[in-house]
Amino acid sequence: MKSDANPMCKAHAAPRCTAKSKRTGERCKGPAVKGWNVCRFHGARGPGKANPAYKHGMRTRKWQEMRKAINDLVRMEKEIEELISEYADKPA
Ligand SMILES: [Zn+2]
Repeated sequence: MKSDANPMCKAHAAPRCTAKSKRTGERCKGPAVKGWNVCRFHGARGPGKANPAYKHGMRTRKWQEMRKAINDLVRMEKEIEELISEYADKPA
């Protein structure tokens, strides 16, 4: 590269944001934040401990999924108990 080349050349070559516009359906094309697939407008660097909305971590995606799995298990357990009680009520 020549020394008098446009200094923005490297910036323009940066990886692009993978987010899609809700309105147009087109890709954002903004420069992605280092270590992320999205630009600073589309969620890079958050949510997480660094995000001001982060309180205790119990609302993170991981914990939401865990809570949902536990609720599903409890629901299944109740259904099984119902089936057992129905079966037990029937005269032999
Ligand atoms: Zn973007």
